[in-house]
Amino acid sequence: MTGRNGLLKSYLEFPVIYKIFIGFVLGVIAGVLLGPSIMVIRPLGEAFIRLLSMVALPLIVFTLIVGASSISPKDLSRIGVKVLGWYLITCFIAAILGVGMGLLIKPGLGSEHLLEEAECTPVEPVDFADMALNWIPGNVFASMAEFDIIPVLIFTLIFGIGLTYVRGSKEPRIKDAGDTLYKVCDAGAEIMYKVVRFVLEVAPFGVFALIAVVIGDTGLGIFAEYARLIAAEAAADGIMIVCVYSGLLLLFGINPLKFLKGVKDPWLVGTVTRTSAGTLPVSMNCAENTFGISKSVYSFSLPLGATMNMDGSASYQTVVAIFACHLAGVQITPVLIATIVLVSVMASIGTASVPSAGLVMLTITLSAVGLPLEVIGLVAGIDVILDMLRTGNNVVGDLAVSNIVSKTENETNWDVGVWK
Ligand code: ASP
Repeated sequence: MTGRNGLLKSYLEFPVIYKIFIGFVLGVIAGVLLGPSIMVIRPLGEAFIRLLSMVALPLIVFTLIVGASSISPKDLSRIGVKVLGWYLITCFIAAILGVGMGLLIKPGLGSEHLLEEAECTPVEPVDFADMALNWIPGNVFASMAEFDIIPVLIFTLIFGIGLTYVRGSKEPRIKDAGDTLYKVCDAGAEIMYKVVRFVLEVAPFGVFALIAVVIGDTGLGIFAEYARLIAAEAAADGIMIVCVYSGLLLLFGINPLKFLKGVKDPWLVGTVTRTSAGTLPVSMNCAENTFGISKSVYSFSLPLGATMNMDGSASYQTVVAIFACHLAGVQITPVLIATIVLVSVMASIGTASVPSAGLVMLTITLSAVGLPLEVIGLVAGIDVILDMLRTGNNVVGDLAVSNIVSKTENETNWDVGVWK
């Protein structure tokens, strides 16, 4: 009994990031050794994703109410503009980087035969006006039930601003009620952080299962077959993380090495779960406990970023578009590049933050410039790997911008985590 307790104690005391990393490595090994038979552990990976999703909504709602009602609406709108501005800037950089890596590494060049063998994928046009309209929460409970984050975010933000006014009321009864609700939400957020801690303790097992299933199902051979496509995407994501975000952070006086060290957990969880929305609890935990980013910034910037700011997905769109140009023998002109970049940024904004959502959005990018949609069928075979790469980047991008905005707002808590 004591031995078992001792084992549990040592497990809990061992740093989470190492445990997750060990789970990852063991998962790769198990996938390679056991092949498709490892699929039996799939439910373990799915259980982990469900646990993350379970925490995400209450965490967003509680922290955003606390965050939005802690600052004045004027400051909130300034923070909002900054966050959105940075999200757009980094997204454009990522899309351009994707084109650059596509032109440099040339995926698809010399493999034109692949296109003849490919199957056509039916097109489902996405209407941007409809999409934007859906952001207005007609029924916020329905949006919550569907895990539709943007309408929930908009409602919670309005609610939080309303609470600021209630707390500022001259009537003691109303002010008291507002203060009580604020305290309840504050406690709710703290409780959810405790739950996130628990979820992180079981994360190594989830990570093990998720990666083992991917490798067991697709094998490592797939890497060689589509090596240049994977390399172009990996290079774009890698440069974004190691050079672009780090450079921007440096510009704002934040140590990029500390950032890269601190961002490992959310990056790894994003990579294996392939969902930015699902990774939100881990990102928010990291923002609060590792980076000391102010709640008024991250409670808004992270859920918004998870749904709208997808730098990895933007570079993925452009890399695949260049891949398609090569396969189809299309001449790549500056106008074509500009169109691809613009449409890719829009497609990435519209991409849902769930696994493989970007694959569907390729229909927008490819059809906008008249490239063959059969390419989607080709990419689908390795999309799991591309999705891992881009989702990891998506998650890191949100935290980089949140750090920058928090620093410019002079709201970073330097006594926390990596800064201590
Ligand atoms: N899986 C990505 C994410 O959740 C979205 C995509 O497929 O591009 O961030």
